[in-house]
Amino acid sequence: MSEIADKFAKLQSSRQRLRNSSAKERADKLKAIWAGVVERKDDIFAAGHKERGTHDLDIAAELVMIKGEIDFAIKNLAKWMKAEKIKNSLNTMGKRCEIRRQSKGVVLNLSAYNAPTAECLVPAIPAIAAGNAVAIKPSEHAPYSAQIVQEIINNALPSDEAEVFQGGVDVSQELLGLPFDHIYYTGGMSVGKIVMKTAADHFASITLEMGGKSPVIIDETANLDNAAKKLAWGRVMNAGQVCIAPEYVIIHESRKDQFLSLIEEQINALYNFDGAGLDKSAYVPRIINERHTARIKALVDDAKEKGARVVCGGGSDLEDRYIEPTVLTNMSEDMDIMHEEVFGPVLSVLTYGSREEVLDIISRRPSPLALYVYSTDDEAIEYFLNNTSSGSAVVNSNCIQSGTNPRLPFGGVGSSGMGRIGGYEGFKSMSNERSIVHQPLDRFRDILIMLPPYSERYNNLIMKALK
Ligand code: NAD
Repeated sequence: MSEIADKFAKLQSSRQRLRNSSAKERADKLKAIWAGVVERKDDIFAAGHKERGTHDLDIAAELVMIKGEIDFAIKNLAKWMKAEKIKNSLNTMGKRCEIRRQSKGVVLNLSAYNAPTAECLVPAIPAIAAGNAVAIKPSEHAPYSAQIVQEIINNALPSDEAEVFQGGVDVSQELLGLPFDHIYYTGGMSVGKIVMKTAADHFASITLEMGGKSPVIIDETANLDNAAKKLAWGRVMNAGQVCIAPEYVIIHESRKDQFLSLIEEQINALYNFDGAGLDKSAYVPRIINERHTARIKALVDDAKEKGARVVCGGGSDLEDRYIEPTVLTNMSEDMDIMHEEVFGPVLSVLTYGSREEVLDIISRRPSPLALYVYSTDDEAIEYFLNNTSSGSAVVNSNCIQSGTNPRLPFGGVGSSGMGRIGGYEGFKSMSNERSIVHQPLDRFRDILIMLPPYSERYNNLIMKALK
């Protein structure tokens, strides 16, 4: 047996025990993880700095997400674990119906690099809360964060309850070959397909958290100063390596020129306020590696070759893994950037004349993870929300819908993902929702009318229901 299979078998061996663990026991595990995060806070900051040049506060915000989910789970765990009484229907009259949420068994969390600590730990919270053993596979592109996550987990939980598997694609593939009960995946679409296909081999349930091209609609009535400020932040934050970051703007043609000058102004106001240069800013992180830097640069170069105008930015330094915050316009459908997720600090700006054009532009791409509407017209807001689809949407802001409210489930639709994380929804997705019917055995309630030979009374009852 390989080392990975051996560790997996150990996790499997505690399924039954964990399934019957109490709310207090589960809460204590979550507390131990949080204590580890707090203890290693400075190391986590240093890892993020080495990996992406991220500002401490931006990493702190990532950790706040973990705390929010842990606190909420601890507060509600006893309630979530209680059998839920279900009202009777005519057909279950006299019986007792309930739903019990049981652990699925062993959950695999296969995660990405852009918020590496949160992506490893946030999905582990509902998995543990629901009484599962958990295997975490951090991204190989964020190895310093992965190492700290491993140490936190090893300190907080025994190895038959949680295990961290470091490594690259080979480790991922070996893990995917094992009969996990649920697979939680964060990453790109092409690997998402692999996860979905291999999960089928063992009928594992899945949560897929992917990305895509999240659009921003700005109509004639929008507060442009406000929109430009928030979009400059939403696109440059974490150097655009945010799954819900705004990828492209569709703005009413009457407001385009004003918006283009405002967004350039705002990028400078937020990220070059001292005039030292965007590349010197402590708030403009680096791309995770040279390969992704080159990929983003190629998207910008391809767009320029095909007629895009650079409104601001456009520069890059491969060795430094730096992509200058960039705004492009004069976009066309033959540009790669209009179809591929950038996952970098590059915003494309398109225009529209009629609302139908907006719907047409969005529908030419797969369902996005997020959609943003900037408008002060309630009727227009409703129109755009009702005629588009996305995992989540925000009106008059962006990137504030994830990790901010555990009562607001998060996830994608279609190619941007399936399943939800956050609070009770996360707990439910890591649980088997088992319907249970209790039949009392007294003769008034244990009526076996549906057994053959069928009575006239039963025949009339069923036939009447068909009318
Ligand atoms: P990725 O798909 O390259 O990697 C994710 C994980 O899959 C890693 O652990 C990696 O080891 C593994 N993996 C890679 N290739 C594999 C293969 N062939 N077989 C099996 N496993 C494999 O993703 P990434 O580049 O690290 O992350 C960026 C993507 O993640 C973006 O598309 C972004 O939108 C998305 N994302 C989504 C969310 C969300 O919550 N929806 C959050 C963050 C990132």
